[in-house]
Amino acid sequence: MTKRVVLIGHPVAHSLSGAMQQAAFDELGVDARYELWDKPPIDLADAVAELRTDDFLGANVTIPHKERVVPMVDRLTEEATATGAVNTITREGKRLVGHNTDVAGFDVALDKLVGRQKMPKQAVILGAGGGARAVVYGLIREGFQRIIVFNRHLHRAEGMVKHFSRTASHMELRAMPWHESIIESEIAKTKVLINATSIGLTSDISPLPSEVLSNELLVLDLIYAKTRLLRDAHAAGATTLDGELMLLHQGAAAFTLCTGQPAPLELMQSKLAEARAGGLRSAEGEPTGEPAVAAAE
Ligand code: NAP
Repeated sequence: MTKRVVLIGHPVAHSLSGAMQQAAFDELGVDARYELWDKPPIDLADAVAELRTDDFLGANVTIPHKERVVPMVDRLTEEATATGAVNTITREGKRLVGHNTDVAGFDVALDKLVGRQKMPKQAVILGAGGGARAVVYGLIREGFQRIIVFNRHLHRAEGMVKHFSRTASHMELRAMPWHESIIESEIAKTKVLINATSIGLTSDISPLPSEVLSNELLVLDLIYAKTRLLRDAHAAGATTLDGELMLLHQGAAAFTLCTGQPAPLELMQSKLAEARAGGLRSAEGEPTGEPAVAAAE
């Protein structure tokens, strides 16, 4: 019987995740169908409960449910516990296990961004949502000693810092208010800058004025496109990377968790590229606004 794997989010329309996961099932002969479930928060618990039957291999979870879904599963992996966010659900019999493969995806992206340089110890992060949680945990695990988080709603950044208080007890993890002058002075002290907000996803705007960017910086944007921030950073001489590698590797890890098989990475990457060329720029399928700009190098 054909099994089901679902992407639960709100909204979910066309999806990059769907393009790469279905192609991977087909390539490896996994008899499974990838479905998009657009579920508002009120329907989330029922949707998760449905996953307990034999029909399902698992699910991916995306905006805005990654944190909300945590109490709805029976067991959390180390990454899911540490981040307080779940982006993949698998079954152990009727029990549901919550994973966070964004962390594994971020690890690969960070390695690529840093390249052969010595791993830096300081980072500035913009954003405090589910994606930012994977970033913060990845950086703590990597040995970063100072991480400053800026978010439009300061209380959300403060909540995230509080969540990590034990994991980060040996280092400095701080939330700061979103004021350009404070951001500028923190960026001047740091090497790694990560955009984990969705600013730049649906319109060609940057979270920062270009003047604060320098050639010293390593800049990662979690968005899967050559955003205004990445173009400005590139123009300033900085090293840049967009969110495609993270998306690919979180998807590959999710594929392996659901099927027990190694993911066909090259195929998944080419399907992502194809879907992006067709105009998709988000894993979830939010409205794309202006046409997508080609991927960063
Ligand atoms: P989320 O939980 O909904 O968080 C969204 C973040 O963006 C929050 O920090 C929010 O700030 C901020 N934000 C949104 N609109 C803003 C605006 N107009 N001005 C200032 N801040 C704004 O979403 P998420 O899951 O963390 O995802 C965030 C981004 O990362 C998305 O673009 C997503 O596609 C991307 N992402 C990529 C990957 C990957 O694999 N490459 C993985 C995860 C996420 P407030 O808290 O103040 O609202």
